[in-house]
Amino acid sequence: MARVYNFSAGPAVLPESVLQEAANEMLDYKGTGMSVMEMSHRSAAFKGIIEEAEADLRSLMGIPENYKVLFLQGGATLEFAGIPMNLLNPENPKADYIVSGGWSKKAFKEAKLYGDIRLAASSEDENFTYVPNVDEVEFREDADYVYICENETVYGNKYHKLPNTGKVPLVADVSSCFLSEPIDVTKYGVIYGGVQKNIGPAGVVIVIVREDLIREDVLPFTPNIMRWKTQADAGSMSNTPPCYGIYICGKVFKWIKAQGGLEGMQKINQEKAAVLYDYLDSTDFYQAPVRKEDRSIMNVPFVTGNADLDAEFVAGAKARGIENIKGHRSVGGMRASIYNAMPKAGVEALVEYMKEFETSHR
Ligand SMILES: *Cc1c(COP(=O)(O)O)cnc(C)c1O
Repeated sequence: MARVYNFSAGPAVLPESVLQEAANEMLDYKGTGMSVMEMSHRSAAFKGIIEEAEADLRSLMGIPENYKVLFLQGGATLEFAGIPMNLLNPENPKADYIVSGGWSKKAFKEAKLYGDIRLAASSEDENFTYVPNVDEVEFREDADYVYICENETVYGNKYHKLPNTGKVPLVADVSSCFLSEPIDVTKYGVIYGGVQKNIGPAGVVIVIVREDLIREDVLPFTPNIMRWKTQADAGSMSNTPPCYGIYICGKVFKWIKAQGGLEGMQKINQEKAAVLYDYLDSTDFYQAPVRKEDRSIMNVPFVTGNADLDAEFVAGAKARGIENIKGHRSVGGMRASIYNAMPKAGVEALVEYMKEFETSHR
């Protein structure tokens, strides 16, 4: 068996021990004589899985009692609609968005279908190589919420300071930085993300929402199944939840606990990112387009400035077991997604290859 170093932006690398455990339990989950894929979501065994997953997530993130945790389907993209539908006041629907990359741009565009949605700030003028200065952004005091994408997966930028939105709830898409560092949940009204970047297999989106923001009077056309009230009242089981995905997420939560929780995870992630950024800063052969103070430690785009050379780099990487390093088409070049489960040895192998490639192509 040959495992590669998988730098995919998502679906992405998972901890090997988690995959091994899931393999061991595949045919017979804890004496039930069946796989988790085959069991009723109403069974005692699955009830145990989802309850333990939620409890572990709560303890990892320090989620206060007055926040609900929902395990939903439809990916982050369905929540681009779910957020305005659930949070806008139908009498006077208003929200402010900061656009710092492709994902927040998509969310903004979707939200505009549902109300008076204002672009509060954008960094598109410089191809999203920075995060707008949150101290200079003005928000409407009567907005129902302010929206950000905390880590833009494609462009590789990250908010290292949150906007101060006063009494207006802050909503954050954390898909690509979920559980990568400690977080103060009380600073947010809603934290949500698809799990396939940093937590589990595609098919689960986790929504963490302050209870008082769960409205009954949502926009009237909101499908019942998309109403957070429906899913909160049903413990995420108004219909069949993405059972197997939730089971894997639960295993990853335990794995993160074993890494020292979010503090431990952050330390490891910073060390890994430093290996790559320190090298990028030491050479002019590659360029990292994102402004230093806004860099993501999860997604690291870099380019040589020559498309043919970039293509050669990607092909050579693949030949060495360094996979999915090609950048997104909107940035070009390369992108290394170095999520929680990417071992430091993987980043070191990448930098080793980058050095050799530089030497032979200078
Ligand atoms: C991947 C991604 C999404 C979209 O997730 P889907 O599950 O494909 O809908 C949204 N936001 C961010 C930040 C992402 O990285």
